[in-house]
Amino acid sequence: MEQINFCEYTKWFQYLIDKKFHIYENCIFCFNPIAENSIGVGEHVIPESIYGFWRVFDVCKDCMKYFGDNVDQLAVKDVHLLNALHKLNLKDVEPYYSNFQFKGKDTIDGKDVKMVRRKKNFKAKVINNDNYIIQFNEKDFDPVGIPWLKKQLQFKNPKKLIDGELNDLNENFKKLEPGEIYNSILGFSIKKGEISDVKLDNNAIAPITPLISKVALSFLCYFLQIEQLSKIQELDILRMHARFNKNLNENLINCCPIFEEKSYGMWHGIRLLIKPNLLLLDICFFGYVNWRIVLHADNLILKMDNEKGNVEILAFELHFEDLNNRKKYFMVKYQNSEDVYYIDF
Ligand SMILES: [Zn+2]
Repeated sequence: MEQINFCEYTKWFQYLIDKKFHIYENCIFCFNPIAENSIGVGEHVIPESIYGFWRVFDVCKDCMKYFGDNVDQLAVKDVHLLNALHKLNLKDVEPYYSNFQFKGKDTIDGKDVKMVRRKKNFKAKVINNDNYIIQFNEKDFDPVGIPWLKKQLQFKNPKKLIDGELNDLNENFKKLEPGEIYNSILGFSIKKGEISDVKLDNNAIAPITPLISKVALSFLCYFLQIEQLSKIQELDILRMHARFNKNLNENLINCCPIFEEKSYGMWHGIRLLIKPNLLLLDICFFGYVNWRIVLHADNLILKMDNEKGNVEILAFELHFEDLNNRKKYFMVKYQNSEDVYYIDF
């Protein structure tokens, strides 16, 4: 990194703007040298799919490809972010729900039933397992149930008998109440199920933490100095999780709103609160959905200006209330002072 003398954090912000977020010689995620002509449009730290527009140029081609293939898509797999996109009328999120697995309860035996969402409706996932138990939606009876039965029965029975029996079954199945069983003359039984209490299957959701780690590491690499970065105990864990999918400490990244009222806004923000041995990093999307990372660092003091004292809060916000005139804001607040300094660009 180039050494510059700055007496105020606002000068550091101006330096980042002038350098267009290209201040390192090596990739901030894998440490390989960055080939000057290879970085192209840069890395979108916050994915464009959720209206991010902060690009940095210290990420190598391989890492950019990795994030594009594996990490950025996590944004539109996160139910909180989809909810925000929907509430702000920014995207038709219905197609994204087909990525999710839901679960319902079988009203008869109380067991969980895997569900999927198609065309604004929930459907039981078609399961055809080795024990010859087939599970499907009533609407799928014709396209799924009948062909399946045909296949099971065809070797043991004459075709005419099968066709006749399946016709009877088709008629009678519709009349069954949930829980009732149809016993066929061909030796199989079918129970009609009913599913209620459908909700998202949290165990089947890909965690968004690699993306949050990517945003966190990027922010820290630009907004802190090397001496301070080296003091953060969890820095490498974030880097390895973002780029190499290595394990994350439990409870390092927690989804927790910082605002009590659920209200979405057209902005994203990253905010770092600096305490002597602790850093609280909040990554907030759409003004409400917030992930908090608690970082530990011994004696981390950020003194950029002798007159103003130590830095208490650093923040970076992307505002897109006006999509034709999007703005980024830097913000710094010092301890012992109520003044807040802004730069926008
Ligand atoms: Zn890299």
